[in-house]
Amino acid sequence: MAFEGLAERLQSTFDKMKGRGKVSEADVKEMMREVRLALLEADVNFKVVKKFVNDVKERAVGQEVMKSLTPGQQVIKVVNEELTALMGGEESKIAASRKPPTVVMLAGLQGAGKTTTVAKVANHLRKHHNRKPLLAAADIYRPAAIDQLETLGKQLDMPVYSKGTDASPVDIAKGAVEEAKEANCDYVLIDTAGRLHVDEELMDELQQVREAVEPEEILLVIDSMTGQDAVNVAESFHEQLEVTGAILTKLDGDTRGGAALSVREVTGVPIKFAGTGEKIDEIDVFHPERMASRILG
Ligand code: GDP
Repeated sequence: MAFEGLAERLQSTFDKMKGRGKVSEADVKEMMREVRLALLEADVNFKVVKKFVNDVKERAVGQEVMKSLTPGQQVIKVVNEELTALMGGEESKIAASRKPPTVVMLAGLQGAGKTTTVAKVANHLRKHHNRKPLLAAADIYRPAAIDQLETLGKQLDMPVYSKGTDASPVDIAKGAVEEAKEANCDYVLIDTAGRLHVDEELMDELQQVREAVEPEEILLVIDSMTGQDAVNVAESFHEQLEVTGAILTKLDGDTRGGAALSVREVTGVPIKFAGTGEKIDEIDVFHPERMASRILG
């Protein structure tokens, strides 16, 4: 379960606060010391922690909170609102082009969960938005990725555009868009190559694909279990590729939650989906508010 340790620590800190009829500035400070430690332990980026703690303190020691009838509850409400804001505030929807097909490119490091996530997002679009997606296999360096996408396509009964490992990713992306038009598909989801580390060659290739098909969305797939590394990876991808959103995978295995709590604030990129398991339907639209409430219990 995501955020296990953090949720437990924050909830026990706040339990002490809940019933209070009176809260002093010193109480708030003491509580925020605990919150700060809990966030750092959850591997949240230290700059994010600092800003968060200051924002909460500033609001929580204000007249409105201190003089309210239930100051303890009010402080917790402020923490909840600030946590929600930290993760982006509102849900961020996947784009839909006015001139279909909508092209969505998924990028990320190898093993982050791109190929799986392409199928998950396609399934989500069909199930919840009545869309007709086509999947494009542009990870030409890993024949296994192409096979995997074809298998997933079969499983979902969705078309997969693949040219094996010989065509260039740019040609595959362009071909997929043409095919989608002919087959009346309204989304093209492109699975791109990943590497173990961010490198120039990979970025060049992804930039070429971007220029060739001008995607409405470039979604960065990041493995939330890699914590602050995920945040660093997100920063460098965003710098070079101007991504439009992030998808956090493996939230089911991430007991700490540092990436989920830092990515939005550090990169400014909205988190659109969260992967919560290996199965095709284990993906959720990312709701900052629900996530904050889950952490705070
Ligand atoms: P790619 O190299 O980025 O294309 O990654 P894959 O799609 O091949 O996924 C790598 C591994 O992560 C596979 O074993 C997937 O089943 C697994 N995976 C992907 N998303 C999730 C998720 O949300 N939760 C869990 N537990 N596993 C995931």
